[in-house]
Amino acid sequence: MSESTPQDACGHGPDIEQEDRLQRALDQIRFKLLVMSGKGGVGKSTVAAYLALGLAARGYAVGLLDVDLHGPSIPRMLGLSGHAQVQEQQQRITPMVTRHGLKVLSVEMLMPDRESSVIWRGPLKIGVIKQFISDVEWGPLDFLVIDSPPGTGDEPLTVAQSVDGALAVVVTTPQEIALADVRKSLDFCRQVQMPVLGLVENMSGLTCPHCGQTVELLGQGGGQELAQRLGLSLLARLPWDGRLVRAGDSGQPLDLEQDYNAAGPSCRELVQAVLARTAQRS
Ligand code: ADP
Repeated sequence: MSESTPQDACGHGPDIEQEDRLQRALDQIRFKLLVMSGKGGVGKSTVAAYLALGLAARGYAVGLLDVDLHGPSIPRMLGLSGHAQVQEQQQRITPMVTRHGLKVLSVEMLMPDRESSVIWRGPLKIGVIKQFISDVEWGPLDFLVIDSPPGTGDEPLTVAQSVDGALAVVVTTPQEIALADVRKSLDFCRQVQMPVLGLVENMSGLTCPHCGQTVELLGQGGGQELAQRLGLSLLARLPWDGRLVRAGDSGQPLDLEQDYNAAGPSCRELVQAVLARTAQRS
């Protein structure tokens, strides 16, 4: 990663050059979607990855940025084990590209050793996330999908404050404990004035492959009720699908475009809903 250009004398002022590059990069991106969740393990990264893949499969130019600096999971999920190219001189980072044409960047792709961990202090985190947008060769994009760590910490705050026009996609599971955390995410969006594109209810029910009956593993329709109560749209309900776990672990994402089982139709519904809701905003 390149060092930023020097900040003003006290070292705390805004880096004007970087702000300029950030603005120029953002001007080339039509929609910026921040995928958030109140708590970990609800399938936020899975939703971000399949949303980005689904949009790319429909011919849109899409970038997927993993701003989870502590536990990036996108490269593993997509089977991307190499390094992103960095040209120190020009301060440019080339994202990796999947065979689906999706441009992907995660901090893991910039680390010499993937097993090592970095202790990120708040200001450093903010700088790195800004750099991930300003110094990366995203090129013109229809969508930049940003996978943020769970909660309402530095990462979503930096995106909300530095990515003009970002829209939130909030992922939850249907049980009450996850919903309580989602309310915090929604409150965060309200405070930072980031519009919420809609909610995604993940792991909502499991269809028995033998009898066809749906088992409500984590409760029923909590996300839907919450969306209704808050006047938000429920973009999709994704069922529990064991193939997603295996695909994520093996780094071979499912081709859900041609899939008529559990996750396939609902992921396509999610992509359609995002296209419809963003089209209303253009
Ligand atoms: P988060 O980003 O919220 O921490 P992940 O996307 O990493 O969550 O998902 C956590 C685990 O749950 C992963 O093993 C993933 O494969 C699995 N998972 C996510 N969504 C589903 C689903 N709809 N059905 C089955 N497993 C899922």
